[in-house]
Amino acid sequence: MANLGNPKNTIAVLQKYGFNFQKKYGQNFLIDSNILDKIIRAADVNEEDCVLEIGPGIGTMTQYLCENAREVVAVEIDKKLIPILAQDTLADYKNITIINEDILKVDINAIVQEKNNGKPIKVVANLPYYITTPIIMGLFESGVPLESITIMVQKEVADRMQVGPGTKDYGALSLAVQYYAKPEVMLTVPAGCFMPRPNVDSSVIKLTRYEHPPVVVSDEKRMFDIIRASFNQRRKTLVNGLGNASGLNLTKEDILSALDKMGLSPTVRGETLTLQQFASLAELLR
Ligand code: SAM
Repeated sequence: MANLGNPKNTIAVLQKYGFNFQKKYGQNFLIDSNILDKIIRAADVNEEDCVLEIGPGIGTMTQYLCENAREVVAVEIDKKLIPILAQDTLADYKNITIINEDILKVDINAIVQEKNNGKPIKVVANLPYYITTPIIMGLFESGVPLESITIMVQKEVADRMQVGPGTKDYGALSLAVQYYAKPEVMLTVPAGCFMPRPNVDSSVIKLTRYEHPPVVVSDEKRMFDIIRASFNQRRKTLVNGLGNASGLNLTKEDILSALDKMGLSPTVRGETLTLQQFASLAELLR
């Protein structure tokens, strides 16, 4: 099978099967072999790896993964793509399993158990942008054994994942990602490298899972509830934001007392707190 990472071969496959792009599935296929090489190198895929690919499309990046990894599992929601993958573009590979499912509904833990004896896998994907955050949070929160996640996302989203306090992009996603993993932007990818061309530029970001989170907190869920409530009402002070959040059951006095113990101003806003400070706050507000 010819390398799909160029416009000519991609168009040939699309025409052969009369395939129409589905906007609702965020279908923008990579057509640049140089970028594909860089993604495989960024993900550090080697012959010992079991790789999960989310959304293989017509199998462009999957071919690269199959050439480099021991085992590849590709989960694709669009059933029209399955015959193209199984009978054509990936037919020559013995190390691929194609699953026709919604990634948000698949039991990834079971896949890791079956294909990699429960040992950590690598996730590599050009993500469908409409569900970037639920996919990333789902991977981390479900406790799937993970070594790293190397993903193409909208450039702004990649920026949001790696910034710290005091910037406009800092928010609940930054803190969640940085609790679980070390984020590194590996490359930026112009819109012209995709077919059809998206309206935004993209970045490849690598999230390397920490063995132990960088902060210690006895109730993770409580900390993330506090983080989410702090950023829900971004312009409000922490005292008002948390005091108004119905699920947290906190009085203004509780919050003021915690801030005082932490040496923070009573008018502080959530967007100025570090992950360590949110962890301390969560301990004081258990
Ligand atoms: N990997 C291909 C490439 O790089 O050319 C395609 C990437 S395209 C941005 C995203 C892919 O994810 C599409 O094939 C789309 O059908 C698939 N997809 C969208 N939503 C999905 C979901 N919930 N579960 C699994 N796959 C999904």
